[in-house]
Amino acid sequence: MAENIQESIPLKLHSPWQILDSVSRCTQNGFIGSSLDNKITCLSSVIEKLTGWTQDEVAGRDVKNFYFIPEAELLDTSSGVSSQIAILLAKDGRKLSLPTRQAPIYDANGNVDGKLLFFVVDSYNKDIDKLQSEFISTVSHELRTPITSIKGFASTLLQHRKQFTEEKSNKYLKIIKDQAERLARLVEDLLACSRIDSQKLQFTIQPVQVTNYVETTALLVESKYNNSHKIIVTSDKDLPDVWVDADRLEQILTNLIDNAVKYSPEADKVEVHVSKTEKGDKERVTVCIRDYGIGIEEKNLTKIFNKFSRLDNPLSRQTEGTGLGLYISLSLARIMNGHLSAESGKDGSTFKLYLPTEFYEVGDNTWD
Ligand code: ADP
Repeated sequence: MAENIQESIPLKLHSPWQILDSVSRCTQNGFIGSSLDNKITCLSSVIEKLTGWTQDEVAGRDVKNFYFIPEAELLDTSSGVSSQIAILLAKDGRKLSLPTRQAPIYDANGNVDGKLLFFVVDSYNKDIDKLQSEFISTVSHELRTPITSIKGFASTLLQHRKQFTEEKSNKYLKIIKDQAERLARLVEDLLACSRIDSQKLQFTIQPVQVTNYVETTALLVESKYNNSHKIIVTSDKDLPDVWVDADRLEQILTNLIDNAVKYSPEADKVEVHVSKTEKGDKERVTVCIRDYGIGIEEKNLTKIFNKFSRLDNPLSRQTEGTGLGLYISLSLARIMNGHLSAESGKDGSTFKLYLPTEFYEVGDNTWD
């Protein structure tokens, strides 16, 4: 009897795709396959769930709209598998930074037919709770410091104003003003992050002479730090205009030049060079900001672009900052079809801001 039933139901083999997708769900890790010309050929259900995209929506579209790899590949030559951090672009605008492994896909004849990018989501999911509580603790800490000063100095002034000289009262009022400005900056940064993540920022793209903005920003930063550093600006001749939103460009330059001074307290200069570069058939303008400060360890060169990432060194602890500036700067640069990268050695760091020299649609990043 049992044998008869077996004979009447023909065995249907599962396809490699079904099996691979189940393995992906079992391990809570996901993958994206792409063809030789970088078009998406498959998207596992774990990635669908994480990003909000469906396989039908993305199949055949260029991978650059869904992920990019900011770091150079680390290739294991024995297995042909490379590892790197990739940034996945979710449908709602979130950017998810995940460790990945990449391997070629071979056809039946053993020829490379595309590639599979495997995302290690498991650790990311575990990290989300940790990240959320870290976020709350960082924001609370950053808010508490200026609030404590404002409360303390305002109460002292209220209680003892009559005993204070005018000079002392003014000194306390200045502290209150500075701390209120610090609070305002933090709230502005938090709002900028939230608008970037939900794609609600407005951009007015127009041709801009970048050197003018670099020079003005350099003067502002010099005076903010009481001319402790000379910011030396040089530029190539006959630079083309860049097509960007001028306010956002100023925001990025201010952050990068301010960091260059802030993280080089022992130095007395920062160099900014604006040059024309070619990438493929595209012309770009590069703003290169070089400082002679504490530098950044190689393993942290990608980490610094994450939200709230402040490196653990005595200077970060002493200086004011939220760890949002570079996240905002990289995001703005990429939305404006540019890019931002960091290099560092023992004698300081160099940040390179790449900007487009022609019009494009906002968010349509052709950098990668
Ligand atoms: P913030 O300066 O507010 O902390 P950023 O996002 O601008 O935040 O920078 C993130 C972290 O990267 C800083 O806290 C610092 O540890 C490191 N960093 C940024 N710029 C430099 C630099 N020029 N030299 C050394 N470290 C830097």
